[in-house]
Amino acid sequence: MATYQEWAMSTTIGSKNVNSRTRAGKHGKFIICPQCNQGETVYHFAWSALGCIHCGDMIEKNEWRVI
Ligand SMILES: [Zn+2]
Repeated sequence: MATYQEWAMSTTIGSKNVNSRTRAGKHGKFIICPQCNQGETVYHFAWSALGCIHCGDMIEKNEWRVI
């Protein structure tokens, strides 16, 4: 359950989520954790869930946000 603040922040950042067509590209892709709104760069999407390095939560691929 997201708080209003989290919801407002995530809509400010952008509403696009990682999906099956998201590609990291040569320089990686910056993705945002929906739990703590901090980001990290990934270089491939060959995973179904990724642990956030900031809050430690396990986040499903399609819940990560892309800028
Ligand atoms: Zn996080």
